[in-house]
Amino acid sequence: MRDTTTISPPFNPVESTSKMTKVDLVCEIRRQNPCLTMAKIGEAVKLTRERVRQILNKHHLPTRVVKHLYICNYCGSTFKGAEYHRLFCNKSCYNNYHYAELECETCGKTFRRRYSQLRGHNYLHHFDTRHCLGVWIGKTYGFGKRKGE
Ligand SMILES: [Zn+2]
Ligand SMILES: [Zn+2]
Repeated sequence: MRDTTTISPPFNPVESTSKMTKVDLVCEIRRQNPCLTMAKIGEAVKLTRERVRQILNKHHLPTRVVKHLYICNYCGSTFKGAEYHRLFCNKSCYNNYHYAELECETCGKTFRRRYSQLRGHNYLHHFDTRHCLGVWIGKTYGFGKRKGE
């Protein structure tokens, strides 16, 4: 019966030839997958984590995974470190993500407002000041205008 339980390995496949020893394989996997943990490598070649560590040490290969890189939620670039809650590469991406750039419907000025504040009429029509909102309401609902005008 054919074995259908094979799972695809969680790393770039390493060409395994009959001449390759498990030691070669461990080294090759590490070179191609710097983010893989020793436990995962051990799982793949059926060796203990400790044995993988010994092999890597002997061959002067890193035993620790590469420090995690974060991906900016706004521009998609990768960055290291923990600035801006590890979600954004810099302050301007943080602002662009949280604040919408809007144009006042009355005076045409651009201004920024938090997305979370855009509710109700603010969501459909944008005004930088209460004054501009008032002007718009007057125009739209025709306060002070006579019917048929
Ligand atoms: Zn960014
Ligand atoms: Zn305005």
